[in-house]
Amino acid sequence: MMEEMKVQRGWFDEVMVPCYSPMEMIPVKGEGSRVWDQECNEYIDFAGGIAVSCLGHCHPAMVAALTEQGQKLWHLSNVMTNEPALRLAKKLTDLCFADKVFFANSGAEANEAALKLARRYSADVYGAEKSEIIAFKQGFHGRTFFTVTVGGQEAYSDGFGPKPGDITHLPYNDVEALRQHVSGRTCAIMMEPLQGEGGIIEPSDEFIQAVREVCQQHNALLIFDEVQTGNGRTGHFYAYQGLGITPDILSTAKSLGGGFPIGAMLTTNKLAEHLKVGTHGSTYGGNPLACAVAEAVVDVVSQPETLAGVAEREALFRQGLAKINDKYAIFSEIRGKGLLLGAALNEQWQGRARDVLVAAGEQGLMVLVAGPNVVRFTPSLVISHQDIAQGLEKLEKAIASLAQ
Ligand SMILES: *Cc1c(COP(=O)(O)O)cnc(C)c1O
Repeated sequence: MMEEMKVQRGWFDEVMVPCYSPMEMIPVKGEGSRVWDQECNEYIDFAGGIAVSCLGHCHPAMVAALTEQGQKLWHLSNVMTNEPALRLAKKLTDLCFADKVFFANSGAEANEAALKLARRYSADVYGAEKSEIIAFKQGFHGRTFFTVTVGGQEAYSDGFGPKPGDITHLPYNDVEALRQHVSGRTCAIMMEPLQGEGGIIEPSDEFIQAVREVCQQHNALLIFDEVQTGNGRTGHFYAYQGLGITPDILSTAKSLGGGFPIGAMLTTNKLAEHLKVGTHGSTYGGNPLACAVAEAVVDVVSQPETLAGVAEREALFRQGLAKINDKYAIFSEIRGKGLLLGAALNEQWQGRARDVLVAAGEQGLMVLVAGPNVVRFTPSLVISHQDIAQGLEKLEKAIASLAQ
């Protein structure tokens, strides 16, 4: 057999569309919250593939589900139904407000389904004029043209020609602006129950209550984008369960598959009936292999011990980051919830989140950023206390090297 050529970072620039700029090292293996690159350097993973690998890498329950289903049946079209999809749908509807599930393959697709359902429902029930989507500045909902336009960063949606219409962006957490703008024409309000990509911004209680209230008043639907916050990330199975209100539509992806691509749009019977046969669909949506893996993930994540463990680990992160800050005075605040945490850089460190990410990588630690001024942590929900301690030591070394 011909020996395979060793893959090099340079190939990326040769054969990949340049919409990403990946780091130099090439990870080839992972186990739990440890990752190894081609050169056998070891890393502790505080990034979790951007809030995806919620049970770390190659969790035995996921490997077992993948292998078992992989030897049975990989794919069917939606002309057929399949066991893993129905089992997963039952479990998801048991775990939250929803009665009905639509399976997709990503967060953007789950959001696309949510937005299309909202528009369809409003048009059917109230007429074509009720089409306005209200969303929030700095929000992120994916990269299809509809979802990226609903997202609150024009830099991401500009330059692709005419945009989907009737979308309004208001400032997050601004109750006054919301009350003044919302009207009978509002079809839906779409929001993250904690903004992730936008910089780890928590909603105020007042804002959350006001959003639910104005939706009620104006017959508008509340869509929670829980692609990043969902599946245990905040210590609740879905973040809304810790906020005292219930959305009408919820989208979930990222940690749902724990590393296998899957997304889902969850909603009530009353809304779901408006997506009649032929109104929406997806070739891979509900794929048996994806659903079997997601079922294994949901089984572990929904256990009370797993969810309680998230708050425990959050406390360890907060303590460790506070200690680093005592020494180096680099953060203005630590924000977020559960294991969706952001360390905001203070005045002297503005714009240097990526420097921290690169320096951490050199120490053998994977972290993320959320914009230029926030270092983000979205590790496995079951990361060991020891890995947290060692990762924080590496972070401290990285910051010490930058502080010199
Ligand atoms: C990541 C993310 C998305 C997009 O998910 P994809 O799987 O990349 O399409 C949408 N919404 C939120 C809140 C996200 O964090």
